[in-house]
Amino acid sequence: MAKRDAPRRRQKPNWVKDLALKRIRRLFELAEQELEVHPDRTRRYVELARKLSTKYNTTIPKELKEKMCKQCNSLLIEGKSMRVEQVSKVNYALAVCLNCMNAKKRFLGSWLRQQL
Ligand SMILES: [Zn+2]
Repeated sequence: MAKRDAPRRRQKPNWVKDLALKRIRRLFELAEQELEVHPDRTRRYVELARKLSTKYNTTIPKELKEKMCKQCNSLLIEGKSMRVEQVSKVNYALAVCLNCMNAKKRFLGSWLRQQL
């Protein structure tokens, strides 16, 4: 009997994932450097990082994921491309992307504690 077809989307070997992760981190580094001078380049870098993560089945590390806007791919740095709106009484704050005005919920627990 013929062997069953291998699944089309295979798990990538770990070293490939490591490499992809390195490139993602590097792209975020570059994006941060270019933020003030070339904001459009920043969005391109973040877009590339996201593409890498889908292509190689890797997840973007949490700390980097929090720094990007899902809607327009820009890097969110407080005071430069993002502003924080605190929602009183509730346990989260809003991070508003200044490029597309998309608001992102941030739970006070993990993220804001570092900022304050
Ligand atoms: Zn945005």
